[in-house]
Amino acid sequence: MFWDRESETLARPLLEQFQLRQLQETVRRVAERVPFYRQKFAELGVKPEDINSLDDARRLPFTTGADLRGIYPNGLLAVEAHEPVRLHTSSGTTGKPKAVFFSRNDIHNSAELMARSLVMAGLTKQDVFQNMMSYGLFTGGLIMHYGAERVGCLVIPAGPGTSERQLMLMQDFGTTALHILPSYALYFAGFLEQRGINPRKDLTLRKAFVGAEPHTEETRQRIEQALGVDVYNSYGLTEMNGPGVAFECERKAGLHLWEDHFFLEIMDPASGEPLPQGQQGELVLTTLRREAMPLIRYRTRDITSIIPEPCPCGRTHHRLNRITGRADDMLIVRGVNIFPQQIERILMSTPQVGRNYVIILEGLDDMAIQVELAAAGFDGEVEHLATLRRQLTEKLKTELYVRPKVDLVPAGSLPVAEGKAKRVIDRRSL
Ligand code: ADP
Ligand code: ZN
Repeated sequence: MFWDRESETLARPLLEQFQLRQLQETVRRVAERVPFYRQKFAELGVKPEDINSLDDARRLPFTTGADLRGIYPNGLLAVEAHEPVRLHTSSGTTGKPKAVFFSRNDIHNSAELMARSLVMAGLTKQDVFQNMMSYGLFTGGLIMHYGAERVGCLVIPAGPGTSERQLMLMQDFGTTALHILPSYALYFAGFLEQRGINPRKDLTLRKAFVGAEPHTEETRQRIEQALGVDVYNSYGLTEMNGPGVAFECERKAGLHLWEDHFFLEIMDPASGEPLPQGQQGELVLTTLRREAMPLIRYRTRDITSIIPEPCPCGRTHHRLNRITGRADDMLIVRGVNIFPQQIERILMSTPQVGRNYVIILEGLDDMAIQVELAAAGFDGEVEHLATLRRQLTEKLKTELYVRPKVDLVPAGSLPVAEGKAKRVIDRRSL
């Protein structure tokens, strides 16, 4: 289903023409109104009139998270200070927050993109939408809320309350669609199991939109199985309005990035050089329609690649592969580069493994992984445990080239974060 068929299926040459016009306009505006960019353009000797093709975007300076933190609590405003109507900040996973300001049009556009994304993934106005993300400064609450309301759903602004209360709302109001963190979805499935609730029989859920943190295909499948829902991957970041930047269509085969609002590049994270289409690198985004706070070539630090083939759904906007994590998430253990997602893939494809895990780096340079078991009763059977631990250690060693120490712990015994999951604890004395 389409929310805005014309924009979603615009022929690529027209889409690119539109991008160029918007890019030129954005560059002109920030050169005029944002001292930060005026200075950067001057340093690089680039002027708005130099941008005559999309390739010319490469001449423009990058904007980094450090730039935004550096001017906090101010933003890179291209409007008068009294004009923005909304403030959001990043959740600060990787340091001080970044302040992002929205004008009324920016709010309107982000709600439109959100509605477009949700309808693309099959949400309809008959749905009852329970938003289990935090409603404060974090964009996952309000921006998603506005989008779902625009679709015409009954929206339940549950926020991140207790599982008890979430369940009560689901039962009392017949919730059919969830917006939920993937790590919390797994935890919540465990909570339902403990209560003896079978979601397929006892609840009316049919879809879940998960995002805001990296997760693997195996995790998606687990959530689908445990909750009896179709799960769609939702990608966004506060700096680009929050959710609704890229989203999966009903094919669940990559995330369409809304290129009529964002200009997309994939860079080598180390050199900052563009990579050929299809190669994995850092996602760099330029806002094409943002009023209050346009951003030029923002380095997201998120690692992904473009799927070059067109999607059978008919949308022309490029798809991204699942984000494998942030460039900063990469662990270096005994000289080997490891992404936590490699570990998650192995754990979540092992049926005896439960729903939570934590990676602990300790000692000089050792890695231990605490892994919850699937069933509470399983921890009694000592022989099984020893075999499972051996198997997991071997599989992980083959994948990572480092032998981790695997600790199996009872289901539900590892702490669950309030918001995004904290998967790595680094206590190394390096
Ligand atoms: P913070 O950067 O402080 O976590 P945000 O809440 O804006 O603040 O988080 C945005 C980040 O969350 C993205 O840059 C990305 O790293 C991660 N993220 C969001 N959605 C996804 C997703 N679907 N898959 C993987 N990572 C995601
Ligand atoms: Zn598609």
